[in-house]
Amino acid sequence: MPGKFSLMNNVYVLGGFATMGGMLFGFDISSMSGVVGTQRYQDYFHRPSSSLQGGIVASMAAGSFFGALVAGTLADKISRKRTIMVASLIWCVGSIIQCAAINVAMLIVGRMINGVAVGLASMIVPVYQSEIAPKDIRGRIVSLQQWAITWGILIQYFIQYGCSFIDSEAAFRVPWGIQVVPGIILFIGTLFFPYSPRWLADQGRWEEALEVLANLRAGGNKNDPEVMAEYKEIEDAVNFDKTLAARSYAELFRKPAARRVFLGMALQSWSQLTGMNVAMYYIVYIFQGAGLTGQNVNLQASSIQYVLNVVMTVPAILFIDKWGRRPVLLIGSTMMALWLFLIGGLMGRYGSALAFEGNDTTTWAIVNNDPASKAVIACSYLFVCSFAISWGPVSWTYPAEIYPLRIRAKAVSLSTASNWAFNFILAYAVPPALEKIQYRTYFIFAACCVAMTIHIFFMFPETKGRTLEEMDELFNSDVPAWKTRALPASHLEKDIEDIRMQQHGEKNEIST
Ligand code: BGC
Repeated sequence: MPGKFSLMNNVYVLGGFATMGGMLFGFDISSMSGVVGTQRYQDYFHRPSSSLQGGIVASMAAGSFFGALVAGTLADKISRKRTIMVASLIWCVGSIIQCAAINVAMLIVGRMINGVAVGLASMIVPVYQSEIAPKDIRGRIVSLQQWAITWGILIQYFIQYGCSFIDSEAAFRVPWGIQVVPGIILFIGTLFFPYSPRWLADQGRWEEALEVLANLRAGGNKNDPEVMAEYKEIEDAVNFDKTLAARSYAELFRKPAARRVFLGMALQSWSQLTGMNVAMYYIVYIFQGAGLTGQNVNLQASSIQYVLNVVMTVPAILFIDKWGRRPVLLIGSTMMALWLFLIGGLMGRYGSALAFEGNDTTTWAIVNNDPASKAVIACSYLFVCSFAISWGPVSWTYPAEIYPLRIRAKAVSLSTASNWAFNFILAYAVPPALEKIQYRTYFIFAACCVAMTIHIFFMFPETKGRTLEEMDELFNSDVPAWKTRALPASHLEKDIEDIRMQQHGEKNEIST
């Protein structure tokens, strides 16, 4: 166990370090984008056909889907901490195989293994973060994971861009090999992490649970009122759980869990249906549709989007616990709907059908209309900003905080798997959609943004400022989702105050 005031007891350090798992996620997202266009890659792998290339790209998301699904059981059995370590080891193995790939089959196997690691990490990191964080900064700590994702995307993109100038196989081997570095750092760092106090309590390891909580909240003081109040809440929740039937996956689909499980899965599916990954994976098509071509367009377009994505996640980190989850989601999807309708509308109004040289996907574009082109580009940047400040961070925060301990890991694993399932489907579906229905594709995503806004408004209660143990009360109350913001605040402060008064009384008694 780390010493009382060690860095490893600081929630920011722990939560921040764990986001290295998000970094792997980001690396994964852009691990192909900068390599696929290089001569060396194309020559070495014998110019994969577009469907084979699609398979190479998607093998990772398929692995992630599987990883996310198994992560739930693993996290309950071997602990949150060890699941992060397993993920980082698997990541290193996958990266080495990818880096050493001598043919497409080996490349696909490497990418699938990397995918499994990312599936595990993307599920477990938010759970670990939410279980160690105090309620008032929980949103912030989990949002750090989204920030790391955005950094991962950006860093890997630039590594690939830099390596694309190397005139040897290193052009693609270096970017994949370098991925081992964050994996090793995450593995070694996690060795020194404490276990999640909630997982320890769930295992009946009460002494350790109290010790970790005391270290995290009060420099090791187990009698600190804040520690005692939170510990009592966890104790009550775990003891109540013992009165219920044995745990199973089936209970996730039965009342009362089913509603919340569905909300988590829906939120993660909606997050993909915003169309954000069109901007992350296929930005070049948006730019071509807007009439921007040329050698540097891809580079400029991608790097600006990726930088905006990183920068605009910062306000969410700072303010998510002030603003609340609902307003952020509602405003985010409304704004995204607006930008998408504008992109589709402008392209439809000012574009025309055309055959684009060397590219089957772009079959419609704005030609010779500078203002319209610029407006489309501006909307696509604003779209990325709108996602980065809202759905990006909240889609990870919300599922990690709404479930009771007994089903948390399994339910988050299902919601994370939903994210990967839609990620996979859309990665495949977007290019043919752009080819066949052109700018109308943006209308489909815009309509999804409208639908998710309505869904959030009516079905998703506000969770900010409540402890994980208070979520049952919130979700079991009859108050409609849109009125939950006005509900009385968390009980925790009052419990802390009661304990403080009691301790004060006891002290006075002793001194008189
Ligand atoms: C999404 C990813 C997306 C990324 C962009 C994440 O929240 O799950 O699919 O690529 O944000 O920043």
